[in-house]
Amino acid sequence: MKALYAEEQKRHDPKAFLSSGAPQPNPENPERVERLLAGAKAAGCRIERPRAHGLGPVAAVHTPEYLGFLEHIFARWQRIEGASAEVIPNIHPIARNGSYPASAAGQAGYHMADTACPISAETWQSALWSAWSAVAAAEAVMSGAPAAYALCRPPGHHAFADVAGGFCFINNSAVAAQTLRKSAARVAILDVDLHHGNGTQGIFYARSDVLTVSLHADPVRFYPFFWGHADERGEGPGLGYNFNLPLPRKSADVAFLEALEVAFQRIRAFSPDALVVALGLDAFEGDPFGGLSVTTPGFSRVGEAIAKLGLPTVIVQEGGYLCDALGDNLTAFLTGFGGARAR
Ligand SMILES: [Zn+2]
Repeated sequence: MKALYAEEQKRHDPKAFLSSGAPQPNPENPERVERLLAGAKAAGCRIERPRAHGLGPVAAVHTPEYLGFLEHIFARWQRIEGASAEVIPNIHPIARNGSYPASAAGQAGYHMADTACPISAETWQSALWSAWSAVAAAEAVMSGAPAAYALCRPPGHHAFADVAGGFCFINNSAVAAQTLRKSAARVAILDVDLHHGNGTQGIFYARSDVLTVSLHADPVRFYPFFWGHADERGEGPGLGYNFNLPLPRKSADVAFLEALEVAFQRIRAFSPDALVVALGLDAFEGDPFGGLSVTTPGFSRVGEAIAKLGLPTVIVQEGGYLCDALGDNLTAFLTGFGGARAR
């Protein structure tokens, strides 16, 4: 399988974020790329560099106001006397029905959900190339490849149409799905990251052409807290096209695979023409976030089960943080997926 990745994606190097109010080293660090590249190669992937795709595929799911913010905020922030080295907001609108702020500090609060998505000099370019990897993977599948893997970093599934959050800036899975829509009437997104794909849900919440399904640790006591609950089903024309499967903390392989079967029933009933897998590997038992307990062989079974849906599939990298097995978990998923397809 082809794996898409550009070197520019490694330049974004966030330093810190707050966890329960305490500053911590940011776990979404460039070393993840090395582990994931090694994991993809071990699964037999050919690494290819995407071409630059311009803003079009990104602007198809994000607002122009937000994209302008992402591109220019770092330079603007540097002009604030005494400002932090990275853009980190400290004030947020409690509702979004007020005025759109003119200042850098106001816009940072408006467009950034939390402290986990610091913006530095390289963030915009890294996020763009990450999205272009997703576009190139979607194009490979549109040209007839049964599947392609986009090594997207920074990740994307917590980014809404006009809000960054949770290490994410541009929603790569949404970009891939929207790109696939050029030739596929219906696209399903299956998010298996430890965390609920709240940004992806938000982007497609009122649409019936893209089904969004997410398996994740129950947000009742876990990020992203405000979204990911089972009663969030979509709205307007999208009602019934969003499906959340929150899992109890520490759920392991059996519970995860059972929930996956429930997700498949919904996906089959939607009869999509193509699938996007938002592949977080942080549901791993040894991931620093420690929310679920999927094992390395478990990821192989997850890959195998998804492959059996028999759909043209774009696999988009989401979370999964530094631990000894990060690369092995990717290898396990891709090998399981490829093995099931070959049979
Ligand atoms: Zn995650």
